[in-house]
Amino acid sequence: LYHMAKEKDRFFTFLLYPDGEGFPQDWETRLEMIGQPIAVSPLHDKDKDKKNGGFIKPHYHGIYVANSPVTADSVRNKIKRALSSETEECRAIAKVQIVQKGIENCYLYLTHESKDAIEKKKHVYNKADIKHFSCFDLSRYVVLDTEIKGEMFNVVVSIIRAYMLENILDLYDFVEENGETYGLTIKLVNEVIAGKTGFMKLLFDGAYQRKKRGGGNGHI
Ligand code: MN
Repeated sequence: LYHMAKEKDRFFTFLLYPDGEGFPQDWETRLEMIGQPIAVSPLHDKDKDKKNGGFIKPHYHGIYVANSPVTADSVRNKIKRALSSETEECRAIAKVQIVQKGIENCYLYLTHESKDAIEKKKHVYNKADIKHFSCFDLSRYVVLDTEIKGEMFNVVVSIIRAYMLENILDLYDFVEENGETYGLTIKLVNEVIAGKTGFMKLLFDGAYQRKKRGGGNGHI
């Protein structure tokens, strides 16, 4: 457990208990004041208590994003400090853990819309009640799955071939104008072509050579 606590990451989940000891009324402002992207679920007040019947203690699920890898302990302390005041220590935060199954899955779980939650037929909460602090933006944290990445790379290659794009700037221009049609953004393109510079160079060179040849300026 000690080792686990020392493990570092950028993405964490946590629980907040509004009925917990020292939970402040202005908790939302306090979370915003931390200055790190945080998302908080709607109040989970309809999670079934399988052992005793009824519902378990109402709670919020949170996602915390750090700028660089940090420990769960440091995140717990940061949130706890933000929610505590000189007169009252907040003991309503629990289970600060590194995100294990992907941030997208965690985000879907905020409303019980993740695959596992759907399978377990958990009560679905309203997406509109998710609270975002300090510009939490899921799309910025989602790492593309390798399969989707491969498919997107093929789309980029097809575009370069079809439109004979000769360099990365032409590709960016194309994506800026037509990206929506192909489900591409410059950020996605960058992510998809990262580590493939050699191949991209061959591709652009090919397009350049073909265009030149097509232009009939003497080269084969
Ligand atoms: Mn819950």
